[in-house]
Amino acid sequence: MAEIEREAMEYDVVIVGAGPAGLSAAIRLKQLDADVNVVVLEKGSEVGAHILSGAVLDPCGIDALIPDWKEKGAPINTPVTEDNFYMLGEAGKLRIPNFPMPPLMNNHGNYIVSMGNVCRWMAEQAEEMGVEIFPGMACSELVYGENGEVKGVVAGEFGKDAEGNPGPGYEPGMELHGKYVFLSEGVRGSLSKEVIAKYDLGAGKEPQKYGVGMKEIWEIDPAKHKQGTVTHTMGWPLGGNAGGGSFIYHLENNQVYVGFVVHLNYKNPHLFPYMEFQRFKHHPMVAELLKGGKRVAYGARAITEGGWQSMPKLVAPGVALLGCSAGMVNVPRIKGNHNAMLSGKAAAEAAFDAIKAERSGDELTAYEADVRSGPIGKDLKKVRNVKPMWSKWGMLPSLALGGLDMWTNTLGFSFFGTLGHGKNDAESTEDASKHKPIEYPKPDGTLSFDRLTNVSFAMTNHEESQPCHLQLSDPDIPVKVNLPKFAEPAQRYCPAGVYEMVEDDDGPRFVINFQNCVHCKTCDIKDPSQNITWKTPQGGDGPNYPNM
Ligand SMILES: Cc1cc2nc3c(=O)[nH]c(=O)nc-3n(C[C@H](O)[C@H](O)[C@H](O)COP(=O)(O)OP(=O)(O)OC[C@H]3O[C@@H](n4cnc5c(N)ncnc54)[C@H](O)[C@@H]3O)c2cc1C
Repeated sequence: MAEIEREAMEYDVVIVGAGPAGLSAAIRLKQLDADVNVVVLEKGSEVGAHILSGAVLDPCGIDALIPDWKEKGAPINTPVTEDNFYMLGEAGKLRIPNFPMPPLMNNHGNYIVSMGNVCRWMAEQAEEMGVEIFPGMACSELVYGENGEVKGVVAGEFGKDAEGNPGPGYEPGMELHGKYVFLSEGVRGSLSKEVIAKYDLGAGKEPQKYGVGMKEIWEIDPAKHKQGTVTHTMGWPLGGNAGGGSFIYHLENNQVYVGFVVHLNYKNPHLFPYMEFQRFKHHPMVAELLKGGKRVAYGARAITEGGWQSMPKLVAPGVALLGCSAGMVNVPRIKGNHNAMLSGKAAAEAAFDAIKAERSGDELTAYEADVRSGPIGKDLKKVRNVKPMWSKWGMLPSLALGGLDMWTNTLGFSFFGTLGHGKNDAESTEDASKHKPIEYPKPDGTLSFDRLTNVSFAMTNHEESQPCHLQLSDPDIPVKVNLPKFAEPAQRYCPAGVYEMVEDDDGPRFVINFQNCVHCKTCDIKDPSQNITWKTPQGGDGPNYPNM
């Protein structure tokens, strides 16, 4: 394709992604100096459209950023009133008392929120301060300067045809240049992946680890609704097949978030994370809660789980990785929003100082130092061994040893040092022949649903005429390698049913229904041949989550 001419606009800071990290950075920059020029670009059709979180929010991030958030009307209204943790068997449950848990696991003082709505509110605050926010503008490419620094992004390219060439009504988009570019794309961001590889930011770190999180919103019988109640479970149905567990959060308006996370380092390629989630809802405790209610929304998103030892170097010339672009989730707490906000604040402060000193396009080392030695580092360091313990020794030993390690880390030491994660999640997948296929009960259409029906509740959409954003490096691998060796697990690990193996007269054929994609990024992470690249599609495409 011929070189495309684009107009360029100049900013002080260009921010990719209007999640809690990106919006916090924008707000903090404007707090520091109302004249700083800040733009935020978001691929969702509106701010919040692609936000999927539990979410129990630790308010330490928003407290630091907007201390008077209550007076300003933030949609953070449901304090946690009850905090339960159960170990499930197929029909029974065992309550784990709260007292042996280290204090950091306590949810009292936290809030059950719709992070989508929190982000919508943060965007309003940012716009009132003069931040330019452009939803529906996907950043598809990085722009590099003469010295190899990141100097901007390409955003708003629309209307390519299926072959990737300009189609009818093609718009080339614009270049947005900044003294600094913040990548706050969330987990497995496409531009972040490019930057991490180009500048070798993962050197000397453990591989990043992930889970896939699926979530439904239910409206339940008001008699069963207990606003402020938080429940987590482990055990059934995953058992020893994979790490993970569930969350059930009672928010406002008789609504409940029901979610399930499966760690993506599972070995058995027959495992079907989506069906594990559906099966979970048939546990008597969950079925009783949901009976008579209705599911009103569905979504899925990967979650970073590598923590402290997997966080890459956060800065390279002209660019910084914020929030889950760098993986700032505290895994045992299943919380990353507070760190995303704190990272946005820290990056903004570092950029502000640099710009005042008339610097640009260099490394914001002050941001890196703040993250590693400030509240984010402290939060992540204490829990750094929980995930590797679970991967190495399984659920029960890691519960006991992880608990001990979190306690001793709270006191300032660890018997275990810093454990490594070992293989990445794609490499963890073993040959199908080593494992038995798993029989899953058919969804009943009341408590459990087939994947495509549920995906319609994510309200996702992609223009069919544009190029498939799920790109195979080698189109033969699914049939020639993944099918015989791994029973092509893409058919199961994708929570949106994007990938299918279809039997034709000529044999099996791999089909990619990219229109269904909910932007969870699981395929980019888990494909055992690392043959799938998730490329950012045009702006406005993807899910349209209401109040996830
Ligand atoms: C199932 C699940 C449950 C969770 N539960 C909790 C919880 O209860 N509490 C908690 O604190 N955390 C929870 N988390 C973790 C939390 O969601 C993340 O830590 C948090 O979202 C990170 O914020 P972020 O701003 O870095 O990224 P995100 O929130 O993912 O925001 C990134 C934004 O960038 C946009 N974007 C990405 N790429 C581009 C691009 N190229 N161009 C333009 N826009 C782009 C996306 O559309 C998105 O809006 C959960 C995660 C999952 C998956």
